[in-house]
Amino acid sequence: MKVFQSPAAKMKLVGGQLCLDFVNTVDSRGSYSPRGNSPSANNVLGDKLGDYFDLVEWSQHAGIITGRESRRLIEVGRRKPSEAGKVFERAIALREALYRIFKAMLTDRQPRSVDLVTVNDELQRARSHERLTRAGDGFTWEWTGPATALDRMLWSIAHSGAEYLTAGDLSRLRECGGEECGWLFEDTSKNRSRQWCHMQDCGNLEKVRRFRARQRRGTKIKRSASR
Ligand SMILES: [Zn+2]
Repeated sequence: MKVFQSPAAKMKLVGGQLCLDFVNTVDSRGSYSPRGNSPSANNVLGDKLGDYFDLVEWSQHAGIITGRESRRLIEVGRRKPSEAGKVFERAIALREALYRIFKAMLTDRQPRSVDLVTVNDELQRARSHERLTRAGDGFTWEWTGPATALDRMLWSIAHSGAEYLTAGDLSRLRECGGEECGWLFEDTSKNRSRQWCHMQDCGNLEKVRRFRARQRRGTKIKRSASR
């Protein structure tokens, strides 16, 4: 049975952190200034998340819910479209708040308190579902709550965002150097030299762009020299 239909379920996961991959569910982020939380406004901007069902498929793709959970959430979401719509709005608000916070970190600015409030609200909801449990010789966190809770993927995403902001190495946070790409990733390279979200995409495109720019400059120089 074909489960994945959404383009969100085919997205590259190159951020190195769940929260960064979630922020990267918008293509060409660099080409607009991220202000609104409105999904419809984001749709114009290469947004891969068009509705709740895209969010579910992406979440399975990213490994935060199982295939079984995904099918169950899709079923419940279809039965409760208004609730699913609200969860989707919260997801987009969380994503854009995280994006603006990371962007502020990258540009040495203070994040807006309203964005911290959004992340904290989701974090609080997530924490109410967190439970310490025995795993092998140690302990681990697991999520409790009904399998049909439509917002269960947001718990993992909010948790990842908060973990990364508090315990991650933010000096390794990068924005892709590709023109208009704007994807974020964690640079784990030894010499901190990763420039692209994905070499085959942005890296090669940028090389071609620079090559053409050099060629154009060369042609201009030759022209002015021949005058
Ligand atoms: Zn890129």
